[in-house]
Amino acid sequence: MSSGATPMMAQYLALREEAGECLLFYRMGDFFELFFEDAKIASQVLDIALTTRGEHNGTPIPMCGVPVHSAESYLARLIKAGCRVAIAEQTETPAEAKKRGGSKALVARDIVRFVTAGTLTEEALLEPRRANVLAAACEVRGVIGLAACDISTGQMVLEECAPDRFLASLARLGARELVVQDGWELAPEDAIGRSGHEFSSEGGEERLKGIHGVSTLDGFGAFTRPMLAAAGGLIAYLDHVGRGALPLLLPPEARSGEATLAMDEATRASLEILESAQGSRKGSLIDAVDRCVTGAGARQLAEDLAAPLTDRTAISARLELVGWLHEDPMLREDLRAALRALPDVGRALGRVVAGRGSPRDLGQLRDGLAGAHAIGGRLAGRADLPVLLDSLLPALGGHVAGWGAMVEHFTRALVSAPPTERGQGGFIAEGYDASLDELRVTSGNARKAIAALEAKYREDTGVSALKIKHNNVLGYFIEVPSRHADTLMQAESGFTHRQTMAGAMRFNALALHEEASRITEAGAHALAAEEAHFETLVEEAVAARQVIAATAAALARIDVAAGQAERAAEGGWARPEVVEGLSLEIEGGRHPVVEAALKAQNERFVANDCRLASHDRLWLIGGPNMGGKSTFLRQNALIVLLAQAGGFVPADAARIGLVDRLFSRVGASDNLARGRSTFMVEMVETAAILSQATERSFVILDEVGRGTSTYDGLALAWAVAEAVHETNRCRCLFATHYHEMARLAETCEALSLHHVRAREWKGELVLLHELAEGAADRSYGLAVARLAGVPPKVISRAKSVLEKLEKGRAETGGLAAGLGELPLFAAAEEAREEACDSLREKLRDMDVDALAPRDALEILYDLKREA
Ligand code: ADP
Repeated sequence: MSSGATPMMAQYLALREEAGECLLFYRMGDFFELFFEDAKIASQVLDIALTTRGEHNGTPIPMCGVPVHSAESYLARLIKAGCRVAIAEQTETPAEAKKRGGSKALVARDIVRFVTAGTLTEEALLEPRRANVLAAACEVRGVIGLAACDISTGQMVLEECAPDRFLASLARLGARELVVQDGWELAPEDAIGRSGHEFSSEGGEERLKGIHGVSTLDGFGAFTRPMLAAAGGLIAYLDHVGRGALPLLLPPEARSGEATLAMDEATRASLEILESAQGSRKGSLIDAVDRCVTGAGARQLAEDLAAPLTDRTAISARLELVGWLHEDPMLREDLRAALRALPDVGRALGRVVAGRGSPRDLGQLRDGLAGAHAIGGRLAGRADLPVLLDSLLPALGGHVAGWGAMVEHFTRALVSAPPTERGQGGFIAEGYDASLDELRVTSGNARKAIAALEAKYREDTGVSALKIKHNNVLGYFIEVPSRHADTLMQAESGFTHRQTMAGAMRFNALALHEEASRITEAGAHALAAEEAHFETLVEEAVAARQVIAATAAALARIDVAAGQAERAAEGGWARPEVVEGLSLEIEGGRHPVVEAALKAQNERFVANDCRLASHDRLWLIGGPNMGGKSTFLRQNALIVLLAQAGGFVPADAARIGLVDRLFSRVGASDNLARGRSTFMVEMVETAAILSQATERSFVILDEVGRGTSTYDGLALAWAVAEAVHETNRCRCLFATHYHEMARLAETCEALSLHHVRAREWKGELVLLHELAEGAADRSYGLAVARLAGVPPKVISRAKSVLEKLEKGRAETGGLAAGLGELPLFAAAEEAREEACDSLREKLRDMDVDALAPRDALEILYDLKREA
């Protein structure tokens, strides 16, 4: 690339402009090259050499490149680092360019697709056990519409919510990429802005109808304007990214946010559902639960855990299936073995429909569906099928499901292990197409003939070192060592000279040329025939996409249930009872992640009970640091979550009154990365609970108030506990190290005191991790500090400071002195309400029109005095 606007530079700059915020992969022969800023970013992310090539406006152009054959692995790393990439391919060969525009013509290039985190289908770029969600959001008259799809499997969901639930919904969907209207004020920072007119409900509706070939969407569900507008934005983005080629999209499902257990982002993060606090799968809930044997099962489980249900019938249906498989280990193992052998049908389908399918993908569809059929057959005979399984069965039986004939066809058409590349052919089975077989015989015969020619030429020339070889430039040729070349050089020999090498000479001969042409010609015809068959098979799969996807979903659901049953059997988990009412009774509950971690160190987890009911709905839990308070809080929240996701739970028994919203809050720790003061974050999150928790909610509050001074902290913790008790009236576990809060038990009738037990034994602190009734007697702070290795000198100094403080406390009544006289939260509220009422009354009685300005001012002064 040289200075000034050379044709190539002009072409590059035009494509660069079109690529927008994406990095531009510019195809040059066997490489994708990146220039300017793109080169700097990519070389850093990929850790590859940054060089320069040519000049632009007098300065060298930074450049780096990646080989085309290994581009996927580089793409994967760029996507992981948050980049998006536009791929500009050569759209004609150099020969075509020459023919078109003379010897100096530039090869035409075009952006053929954009690669972004939310629009991947390549097996190598996707994580097998994780869904890859793209979402679009927009606002229509104060209501938020959300559209989400996983184009690797085609699943699409539309929903709507109020603005204050937007972030929670987004957190549940867990999108890798979010598209919004340009300039929308609620848009999260990393969202991709797109032109507002793409988010039109009419446009969205028309696109959906077109894609699914229907005249109304009513058959799929009830969709609102905001949902359709979001769908419009989503499809427009997919259009843009795929340059007009749409990926697999199944009929959308209308989902109501109410049907799932509401959890906001902070709750999800603190419960470490799909990721640990460190951002890895290891240490998360799903890692401790997942025993699925297929990627599709693991993805379904992640979806289940991210969106537990609130419908008892649906929960029971899942539980019944898990229970059935739990009771029959033989059948379970049978099913798991069968599932384990199956390819990922859903994702193979995604690639095929997106036009990026390979013969291997078609083979995967054939094998996966045949496997589904076999599984269906094994289950069909059972008399005691659970309801859910019964409803899945049709999707497993090929003929009913509508892909039976297709699988039969694929079985005849394809070889047993088709290749990933189709350029070389060889994937259509013998006996499927007689003319293809003939072409193969022809080229096979020609190959044999060539082998025979070699022997003949040796005999004719008497050169035993003569060989017939093949390369891509010359095709077939005869090679002899130079010292024997003379015989072949003679005019009457029938050989024509082609190339002189160091030590060897190459020749052609008429008979060889003829046989070689037969091979080439037959090969080209065979390839064309295979290609045509491939297209037909793809069409067949595309036409059956919905039923194939339903089968893939059925397999995933069975895998999830069998995995849950397996996990339960492994850990002695129990089938929970999900009931109406406001109780939460868990016997012998355990924390699955902590338990597993302890087990790895050969330590035992101490199981604990939890027994909340409407007359005893708030447990205040004290006790020393490291005593197990947080663990207890979280294990109960996780048990609720697991139960409503339709799985067994790590407990001896559980009876759970259906929960509508789950909240988990942890007092401020280091959260500076998010740019807000830690205490501010803690309070924002607490405020959300107080405004959103209902009587049906379950809340865990861990050391709320810890993030500020002792007085502030205690005051806030106190007020929050009171408000939860009086106003929200939800079930709540509240861990605190403020002893003073025990006095709340005197005024709050549905609050009870509990603590994690500890003992000092021979001067050593022993943490029993056992929950007991009553207030904690002391805090053991110094003992914990000693346990942590604080030097004895510091401990003894702290001891004397403590004695002084405690003496002071005894004399003055301590931190919470006088709190006993404080009217209860509700009573205080009432007093305030009364004052407001009298103000309202005065205002109502006032005749403003008759007031002189002076009198009005007087009234204002009066009111201010009263306030
Ligand atoms: P706290 O919140 O009271 O400071 P944690 O819940 O963080 O205490 O627990 C501290 C540690 O104690 C955990 O990391 C775990 O190793 C251990 N632990 C907690 N609960 C139990 C339990 N029930 N049985 C055994 N060990 C436990």
